[in-house]
Amino acid sequence: MAIDSPPLSSAKVLIIGGGMGGLATALALARRGFTNITVFEMASKLTEIGAGINITPNLARLLDRFGVLNVLQEEAVVIRSANILKGTNDEALSFVKYSYMEKDFGYPFFVAHRTSLQRALIVGCQQSGVVDIKLGVSVTGIDLENARVQICPTAEREVSTTTEWIQGDVIIAADGVKSATRALMLARSGIKDEVEDTRQASYRILVRREQVLDKPELLELLDGNQTYRWIGPRRLIMSYPILKHTLFNIVSAHPDSNFAEAPSTSWTTRGSKQRMLEVFSDFCPRVQSLLKLVPDGEVCEWKLRVHAPLPTWVDGRTALLGDACHPTLPHIAQGAAQAVEDAAVVAIALSKITTEKDIHKALRIYQLLRKERAEFCVKEADANGREMLLSDEEVAERDKRFREASKDGGANPDKFVDKNTQNILFNHDCEKIAFERWDELWESEELST
Ligand SMILES: Cc1cc2nc3c(=O)[nH]c(=O)nc-3n(C[C@H](O)[C@H](O)[C@H](O)COP(=O)(O)OP(=O)(O)OC[C@H]3O[C@@H](n4cnc5c(N)ncnc54)[C@H](O)[C@@H]3O)c2cc1C
Repeated sequence: MAIDSPPLSSAKVLIIGGGMGGLATALALARRGFTNITVFEMASKLTEIGAGINITPNLARLLDRFGVLNVLQEEAVVIRSANILKGTNDEALSFVKYSYMEKDFGYPFFVAHRTSLQRALIVGCQQSGVVDIKLGVSVTGIDLENARVQICPTAEREVSTTTEWIQGDVIIAADGVKSATRALMLARSGIKDEVEDTRQASYRILVRREQVLDKPELLELLDGNQTYRWIGPRRLIMSYPILKHTLFNIVSAHPDSNFAEAPSTSWTTRGSKQRMLEVFSDFCPRVQSLLKLVPDGEVCEWKLRVHAPLPTWVDGRTALLGDACHPTLPHIAQGAAQAVEDAAVVAIALSKITTEKDIHKALRIYQLLRKERAEFCVKEADANGREMLLSDEEVAERDKRFREASKDGGANPDKFVDKNTQNILFNHDCEKIAFERWDELWESEELST
């Protein structure tokens, strides 16, 4: 599976976090021929909260090269068209056929259960034979000067004094939006780490196929190959079938009002079904019927957080990756895709160098190759969220543009289906660019200091 053995193939790579970013990094490094890769994940089991994820062509391309797209495809659904509907009355505002998707971007637009993507990455790591995933192990300290991590069994984290320091050659911190590594890096530059509250929250829920067998108007949503975005004043619902059409995934964005009641440390909470129904009480009967099917106790609510662009992603031989350095709103579905792009590029950067003293420089080139792109996605997601979450008084002009948009792809007020935005997001081949720009960046003045 490995492409070539890189000069530093036996470098000890320590990865903090076994989320999509951490697992993708382990797999990308294995594919480039690295043989000493350890992932530390604080959770004792690799589970993903049940929900769907969009596998856009830029992500599918990388999964294919990593040799795991086939694993994902066993459970994924191909999306053939996208519906934008008015939340309150179900009026079709815009319909886009994805007939151009494979032709223009090389891959279909897939949607999948998050566990399907996770499974594909884990299968790839296991098959490589060189990735050691240590579950139930928390990283409790990082020595940025010397590329060491301090670990402790998560179960004993609060009580144990028996911690162990592990020496690495390079550390990739894929420790998510709450990244302790980021806080430490910023503190060393005298900057306080502050995650931004977007005042938006998100319900993530699933409806099972058995629940709609006697409801043809809902069954057709589950059996079809379409996404549905219902937009209403200040709130939206995005939904699509996953897991070979056995589940219908529903994810919302709405003003955050419930977290006042949640523990102050929590960014996720078990949502109240009653409250969710109230939030969408003016939405159309089709949405109401879907939401009513969700069993009590299966409503999860997320507080949506972002972070201002960081001055740097790199400190010594440690680099941040994924949500740790560019957490994003979900409105253009690029969070995991960008984490996997990071993974592919950091693996290339490390594979290019011949001595350990160049690890820091390689990580800085990784940052140069990735930061602008990832931060562009964060900005686009934010802008799209604002456009989709307008108040009732503001929507008339936008809805006019929706109605005028082409069915075959073209300008569309929703950047998620806008062809120009898709060109930028989906055509981007981060690996090709990394190889093409490597020599220029290696020689660049900016890195010579
Ligand atoms: C509602 C919603 C919908 C979304 N939809 C999409 C979508 O359709 N498409 C898409 O591409 N993206 C989507 N995203 C974004 C995507 O889920 C994230 O961007 C992505 O999962 C980030 O991966 P990550 O590995 O960087 O972080 P995480 O998934 O947060 O993983 C971090 C991991 O690090 C572990 N960890 C943290 N600290 C430590 C420590 N000290 N020691 C050991 N382990 C540690 C954590 O336990 C966790 O497993 C969505 C996000 C939300 C909220």
